[in-house]
Amino acid sequence: MIRLFPQRGGWLEVVCGPMFSGKSEELIRRLRRAEIAGQRALIVKPHIDSRYDIGHVVSHAGAKMRAVAVSRPEDIPGLADGYDAVGIDEVQFFTPEIVLVIDVLVARGARVVAAGLDQDFRGRPFGAMPELLCRAEILDKLQAVCHRCGGPATMTQRLVDGAPAPADGATIVVGALDSYEARCRSCHEIAEPALAAPILAEA
Ligand SMILES: [Zn+2]
Repeated sequence: MIRLFPQRGGWLEVVCGPMFSGKSEELIRRLRRAEIAGQRALIVKPHIDSRYDIGHVVSHAGAKMRAVAVSRPEDIPGLADGYDAVGIDEVQFFTPEIVLVIDVLVARGARVVAAGLDQDFRGRPFGAMPELLCRAEILDKLQAVCHRCGGPATMTQRLVDGAPAPADGATIVVGALDSYEARCRSCHEIAEPALAAPILAEA
């Protein structure tokens, strides 16, 4: 078995950033390099993310790697048994138990690479990401290119019918009719709270 530090156990790498910053691309790149080194590599992703392909992680740029969709973080340790490197895509969609599950994997000696959004469309910390950022040995915050001004984008702009989404809209809307852009801080917009009740319920 090939590992970088076989006597020292595992570690956690986090790759975060807004949409269109290349997180899935980077996750696939790291796991593929591990495979080239002869390590056993597995990618898991939350069942909620049916983007493109249920059996794979597919980046916006088209890179693709087999991934297992799981409903609960508790299912991951059993699946990941025997793997040297475990990638977790869209980690922000998992319940808070994902933090303890990653601790278990790392304690077992796995290299864990967790990729996901650090902020929701409002710019607030997303899911368990703040905990994971604190615990990570290695952390990369990727930037996209702002759709408006071309500057470095760190935020995800949610648009509903082309207009900025209100802050009281649902956080998780997978496959809905709204759209997203990468924006810098100054170009990022939040609409005034909707007068009527939000159309989409909190997922
Ligand atoms: Zn901008």
